Amino acid sequence: MTVARTITEQMERASWIRRMFEEGLRLRALLGPENVFDFTLGNPDVEPPEAVLAALRKYAERPMPGMHGYMPNAGFPRVREIIAERLSRATGLGYTANHVIMTVGSAGAINTVLKAMLDPGDEVIVLVPYFPEYRFYIENHQGKLVAVETDANFRPDPKRIARAITSRTKALILNSPNNPAGVVYTAKELAEIEQVVAGTEVVVITDEPYKPIVFDAKRMPETASFITRSVGAMSWSKAQGISGERIGYLAISPRLESAEELRNACTFTNRILGYINAPAIWQWVEADAGEAVVDISGYETKRNCMWKALAEIGYECHKPEGSFYVFPKTPIADDIAFVRRLAREGVLTVPGSGFGRPGHLRISLTVPAQTIERSIPAFERAFHSPD
Ligand code: PLP
Repeated sequence: MTVARTITEQMERASWIRRMFEEGLRLRALLGPENVFDFTLGNPDVEPPEAVLAALRKYAERPMPGMHGYMPNAGFPRVREIIAERLSRATGLGYTANHVIMTVGSAGAINTVLKAMLDPGDEVIVLVPYFPEYRFYIENHQGKLVAVETDANFRPDPKRIARAITSRTKALILNSPNNPAGVVYTAKELAEIEQVVAGTEVVVITDEPYKPIVFDAKRMPETASFITRSVGAMSWSKAQGISGERIGYLAISPRLESAEELRNACTFTNRILGYINAPAIWQWVEADAGEAVVDISGYETKRNCMWKALAEIGYECHKPEGSFYVFPKTPIADDIAFVRRLAREGVLTVPGSGFGRPGHLRISLTVPAQTIERSIPAFERAFHSPD
C-alpha cells in the first residue's frame, strides 16, 4: 500500500469536508447556483486593511538588500522585536524577540510547538467543540487528542479539565474566540484555568486567529496575562483577511520557566517540519502593519441577522460573542441527518459531529449578507420538515 494506513484513516475522518464540497457541486447543477447557500467554509470575505496593502506595495517596490533571502529560522530579529514590543504593551509582560517565532500561520505555529513538545503517546487536551484539524496536528507528532466537554453554552469547565490531566498530558489547547461555537473566554474563566494548570507541567497553547473579531464593543482578555504557562499561536489570516498568505507567529510567555528551551526547540522544529519559516515579505508587512484589523462590523451585522432569524424560527442557539460562525442546536439529535435535510433545501452547513459536538451544526458567516437573508426560508422549511 503506497499511502500510510494512518493517512487513509485520517482522510476518512475528514471526508465530510469533501462530501459537502461534492454536495455543493451537485446542488448547484440541480437547483442553479443562485439557489444554493454555502455556509461551509470559514474563508474571510473582507478585503485586507489599506495599511497592509500599502506595506506590501512598499516592500515589493523598495525591498531592503537581501530581504528575499533566507533569514534565521525563528524569523527576522527586527520583526520579532517589533512583535515582542506589541505583546509587552498589551500584556505588561517582558516579551523580547527571543520569545517570538515567525510561522506559517496558526496551523504552522501549532504544529511547530507540538512537534517540539510531544513524544509518542503524549496527550493534548482540547475543549469540545474544537477545530477538527487539531486532531491531525496532534497525530502528526504521535500525540493523543483528549477531548474534554464544555457546558451546554460551550463554557469551559475547570473541574473537567483538571480530571483529564494525567502524567502524559503535555498541553491544553484553548481556542478563543472559538471556532465553531463563537465563545470568547472571560477573564474569570481564564483565571480558573490558570488555577488548574499552575503547578503542573501542562503548557497552554492559545490558538487565537480570531482575536480581534469580538462583538458588542467588547475586547477579549489578554490570555497571556492570566495564563502563566502560555504559548500563543497567532495569525493574521482572519484579523486581516489574508488567510491565503499564511503568516503568523508563536509567542512563548516569558513567564514559562522553560521558555528558552522551548524557543530553541521550536526554532529547530519550525525548520525541520519543512514549513521553512514564514515568508520574508509578509514578516516585514506585519512589522509595519500588524496592528491593522479588517472592518468587523459586517461580521457583527451578519451574526445579528443569522442568530435572530434562527431564534425566531425556533432553533436553540447560543449568541456568538466573536469569530465568524454560528453554532445552533439541530432540532433533531442526528446532526448529520439534519445537515442532509438542509442540503435538500439548498443550504450547505457542517455537522457538529465534525467538531466533537453532535446535535449541532456550524454556519460560517463569510458569505454576503443577502445570502443569509435569502437562506432563512430554507432554514425554516428544514426546521419544520417531518422527516
Ligand atoms: N485555528 C483555528 C481555530 C482555525 O479556525 C484556523 C483556520 O480556520 C486555524 C487555526 C488555522 O489558521 P491559519 O490560517 O493561521 O493557519
